[in-house]
Amino acid sequence: MKGSFRLGRVAGIEIGVHYTWLFAFALITWSLANGFFPAQYPEWRGGTYWITGTVASLLLFASVLLHELGHSLVARWLGYPVESITLFIFGGVSKIKGEASAPRHEFWIAAVGPGTSLGLALLFWVVLRIFTFESSPVGAVVSYLALINLLVGLFNLIPGFPLDGGRVLRSIVWRATRSVDRATRTAASVGQAFGWALIAFGIYQAVFADNLLGGVWMALIGWFLNNAAEASRRESVTRSVFQGVTVRDVMDHSAPAVEPGVTVESVVMNEFLQGGHRSVLVSEGGGLLGIASLSDVRKLARDRWPTTRIAEIMTKMPLKTVEYGAGINDALQLLAENDLNQLPVMDGDACVGMLKRGDLIKQLQLRQALGVRPGR
Ligand SMILES: [Zn+2]
Repeated sequence: MKGSFRLGRVAGIEIGVHYTWLFAFALITWSLANGFFPAQYPEWRGGTYWITGTVASLLLFASVLLHELGHSLVARWLGYPVESITLFIFGGVSKIKGEASAPRHEFWIAAVGPGTSLGLALLFWVVLRIFTFESSPVGAVVSYLALINLLVGLFNLIPGFPLDGGRVLRSIVWRATRSVDRATRTAASVGQAFGWALIAFGIYQAVFADNLLGGVWMALIGWFLNNAAEASRRESVTRSVFQGVTVRDVMDHSAPAVEPGVTVESVVMNEFLQGGHRSVLVSEGGGLLGIASLSDVRKLARDRWPTTRIAEIMTKMPLKTVEYGAGINDALQLLAENDLNQLPVMDGDACVGMLKRGDLIKQLQLRQALGVRPGR
């Protein structure tokens, strides 16, 4: 995740913290030290609330980390490489490479998270039963961890995508209908509805129930879930629309190609300004050398355009490329994963054109306008 720093590695998985997490940590520590613990243990002395609050807050995030490790380790065990786990303001995310290829994989990867949280809740509850803590800070932390892990586990079981429960629901619908896209849309719709409900409840809490902080927090989480669900739903509609469509159907066959020796100035004048292109292929004798786009040109000072060869500023091979006959959905994934705006299209060793993000968006709108309906 951008804007995060590294904590270390656990079982070969990179653990990071996003800067927004610091805000959540401060807020939770503050509300534990100022509200939660003073209300339950009025007899403690001043500094105790802060120390206990800090420890409890850190252990809450350690619990969240264990929840994510649950997802990651099961994913890896099922054959999906895991890159990292990042803690951020609303919890944690595991970066698992690729989507689950079978409903039962999706089911187990999702279900183990809430399972871990509920297991931790049970563990801390048992500790509370076995030992007598009276109203000591240690007992307070253990009982807080039992409660919070129970809440985290139950919250994540809500069957709306992108929550774990939503993924479980998706795996079940996927198995029943054999359509991953239909399953995604079902789970995402529940997720969106839940997001709206949480926003409404948060506003109610903030305005009418005198719980400003909690209400705003809930509304923010609702907004975040709603956005994530909407994005997955849209992505799955796109996938359906492009089902069976290949790169050949959408690519720009007349993408301009220039020789490596031409100047940046001439590419800007002839291809960008006159031709209306945003990038050019650079090739020599049929062989692709690289690709030069607006963003490459922008990095070069204006007065150097006439004296600089395009080959000096282009993005050189080896580039990410896509095969002529590949499916659009695979190409879209390639664009998204590498944050690219275009891909050279190859037919064997020869470059035959370019696939551009802008053209894909246009195609999507056209196909939707013509009623090429998702869900086939
Ligand atoms: Zn989870």
